[in-house]
Parts: sequence; C-alpha cells; structure tokens
Amino acid sequence: MTTTPCTVCCIGLGAMGWGIAANLALRKAHIDSHIAVWNRTQSKAQEHAAAYGTHVVETLTAAADTDVIVTCLPTSAEVTSVAHEMAPHLRRGALWIDCTSGDPQATRDICAFLAQKGVDFVDSPVSGGPQGALSGALTAMVGGSVFNRAQPFIACFARKKIVHCGGVGSGHAVKAMNNSLNAAHLIVAGEALLALAEFGVDPAVALDAINASSGRSLQTEVRMPTEVLTRKFDYGFKLGLMLKDVNTAILGLGVPETDTSLLRLTQNVLEASVNEHGVDVDYTTV
Ligand code: NDP
Repeated sequence: MTTTPCTVCCIGLGAMGWGIAANLALRKAHIDSHIAVWNRTQSKAQEHAAAYGTHVVETLTAAADTDVIVTCLPTSAEVTSVAHEMAPHLRRGALWIDCTSGDPQATRDICAFLAQKGVDFVDSPVSGGPQGALSGALTAMVGGSVFNRAQPFIACFARKKIVHCGGVGSGHAVKAMNNSLNAAHLIVAGEALLALAEFGVDPAVALDAINASSGRSLQTEVRMPTEVLTRKFDYGFKLGLMLKDVNTAILGLGVPETDTSLLRLTQNVLEASVNEHGVDVDYTTV
C-alpha cells in the first residue's frame, strides 16, 4: 500500500529559517515529505528553491493548504498575524511548529486560536545561530503536548539536541532565559577584557588564559575571539532580536525589579546599545 507524502511549508527564510527549510529539504525522504517555502520577500524563496529544490508558495492562502507549517519569524506578533491570515484556509489536523523565539503567553494564545481550527501546535525555538541552522546542528527547546508528532520534523534541523521542556510556551520561556544568559555572559566578558586592556594585558592573551580556566564561557571561547577581537561583529543575530528575548524573559516571566537583578542590568545595557546602534546591527556589537 502506498501513502501520500506529507507536505511541509516553511514560512520565513531569514538567517535561521533559511537553514531550517534547507535541512527539511535535505532530509525530506526521512519524513516522507514535499517541502514548500514562503517568504515575505519572494525573491528569497526563489533563491531557496534554486538551491534546495523546494517549491515556492506565492501566497499565505496557498501556504495554509499543507500538513505541516514551520514558522521562523522575528517575534510572536508576526506569527500571530500570519496565523490569522492563514486561519480560514488551514487544514484540520495540520501541525504547526513555531521556531520563532517567541513570547510564552502570546504563544499560548496562538495555540488556543489554532486549536479552534483543529490545528496542533508546538513552540520549538532553536539555538545554534545561522551556521547551526545551515548544518542542521541546532538545539530545539520544545513546548506542547504534541511533541511526539513534531519530533521527526524537528529532528531534521535540530540534530544537536531536542529537549521537551513541558507545556505549550515552555520552549519559548527557556529560550528567552538562554539568550538572557548569552547576553549577560557576553557583556560581562566585554567589561572584564576592557579592564584588563586598560591594565595593559592584551585581550587575546587574557582569553588564552581564561579559556583554559574557570571564568570561560561560549562567549569567551567563541564569540569574543571570532566577532569582537576581530571587530567583525557579524555572527548573524540582530541586536534588536536579542533585546526582544531579554525583554521576554524579564517581562514575560516576571523577573523581580531589584537593584541586584543581573538580568535587568543586562536589559539596560542592551537597551542603551540599541539606542546607540539601532536594532539591525549584530548583537555582538553590544
Ligand atoms: P531575520 O531578520 O534574519 O529574518 C526574519 C524573517 O522574518 C525573514 O524571512 C523576514 O522576511 C520575515 N519577516 C519579517 N517581518 C515579517 C512580517 N511582518 N511578515 C512576514 N514575514 C516577516 O531573523 P532571524 O532568522 O535571525 O530570526 C528569526 C527568529 O529566530 C527570531 O525570533 C530570532 O530571535 C530567532 N533566532 C535567531 C538566531 C540567530 O542567530 N539569528 C538564533 C536563534 C533564534 P523578509 O525576507 O521579507 O525580510
């Protein structure tokens, strides 16, 4: 007996969505699927089709006529907007996998809205950056009760690790805190290296010692040497998106307003940096 292949439509082909869609296309045989792509700027979807043999979908109405939808958009606001536009055309029984780094409460609202249309939902934000997305080596933090249904699709692009964090929104909650830690580590490492430079220690030499010692982190081991000391500032994650994640962690999860909150200090430093440099520069600019 033959079965009809499943159709998957990826919505949003930015720094992360591009690689996520690519890895779904490269592993389509594993999930017995056809992979389609929709992007607001359509030329990018056409480039993706040329590179990976994906099928370009020209409208959100057409994108809705699919079994699995994978979104990777800037914030939950854009996910909510496309969900409302697609809603009348969604298939009952479809599955929606949201790889946006979203807001946990807004995500619960999206899940409830889609449930009325008979659509299952998981939040599945990812970590690993554009390079991890291209190589399919992301970590996914998944929230929602239909984890088992979503897992084979997520496994195509999150081959580093997949963690089921709990109910819907819990993936987004963990992701917001992960990025807050990322930003805090980067900022404090920058402060430390500046002080050492003023004292006359070459930052590269300082990192050589720190990275074999207890003060090291991903930021000192990788981000500082490759993006900051080189003055490249080109990791591929926008400063405005990092501030969004830290705001999500603090406002969405109710971090208390105390003078000793390092998460709130991190938020203040990111806000100052956004005011100085704008939202579109790389987050390592902070
Ligand atoms: P980009 O800015 O590179 O891409 C954003 C994508 O969203 C583009 O495809 C863009 O389309 C689309 N888009 C923007 N606004 C709208 C809209 N109003 N309607 C429809 N589509 C829209 O972002 P990233 O790929 O970097 O980030 C996507 C998500 O992944 C974010 O939530 C981010 O926080 C998260 N993330 C990012 C990481 C990174 O290192 N970059 C790492 C992990 C998570 P268009 O091409 O037309 O502009």
